[in-house]
Amino acid sequence: SDLHARERELVRMVEEKTADLQRANEELSRLSFTDSLTGLANRRVFDQTLDKEYSRMMRAGSELSLVILDVDHFKALNDSEGHQRGDEYLTQVGAELTRRARRKIDVAARFGGEEFALILPGVSTDDAARLGESVREGIASLELPHAASPVAPFLTVSVGVATATLDGWNTPDELVAAADRALYAAKRSGRNRVIVAEGETTAQERAKSSTINRS
Ligand code: GH3
Ligand code: MG
Ligand code: MG
Repeated sequence: SDLHARERELVRMVEEKTADLQRANEELSRLSFTDSLTGLANRRVFDQTLDKEYSRMMRAGSELSLVILDVDHFKALNDSEGHQRGDEYLTQVGAELTRRARRKIDVAARFGGEEFALILPGVSTDDAARLGESVREGIASLELPHAASPVAPFLTVSVGVATATLDGWNTPDELVAAADRALYAAKRSGRNRVIVAEGETTAQERAKSSTINRS
């Protein structure tokens, strides 16, 4: 009957709209979790994941390492090669991070403009330093031309590493601050290198240089 035809038509329309909505929702959640340039986790996901993994580390009495990277002399790259080339390089750095942090629980995030981070649950300082070094080396070996850099003729990154344990840094913020201080120590001591923050229960903090391959 007419009524049945009309009903079938309505059902079909509702199904169509529902599918549209679902696609829109999926797109929305993809956009709200990922950085659009690099496809990595965004800052919001980084913050949430770090909090979650920090709590897990406290409960399990395990370790939680954080690696923070900052592109060296990136302003000079933008100035000499253009912002679009800069964006291309950031995408390449992001892809290299994804290639190096292979475990499912590792989170690679865009931390800020030209800063990236790796959250490495259950990873010791030594292993995090090794991974940081492999990332540094991996990015350098892409040999993305950067003629304006005083460090190397190609794009390089500086890396800071810190590890939280039950008797190490007390909060996620302290862990980030420790990795950040190590990163700036890497900058100050010449860039294109990895520096590990030595976590101590005392207020005294030392920064130790890990294996460095200068180019
Ligand atoms: P340093 O070695 O000390 O880190 O020097 P730097 O030039 O990398 O650091 P600085 O903080 O002076 O400059 C960072 C630059 O990164 C400035 C900013 O324009 C650029 N930048 C930030 N986000 C983006 C982005 O999404 N795309 C591009 N192309 N550039 C960006
Ligand atoms: Mg920076
Ligand atoms: Mg920089």
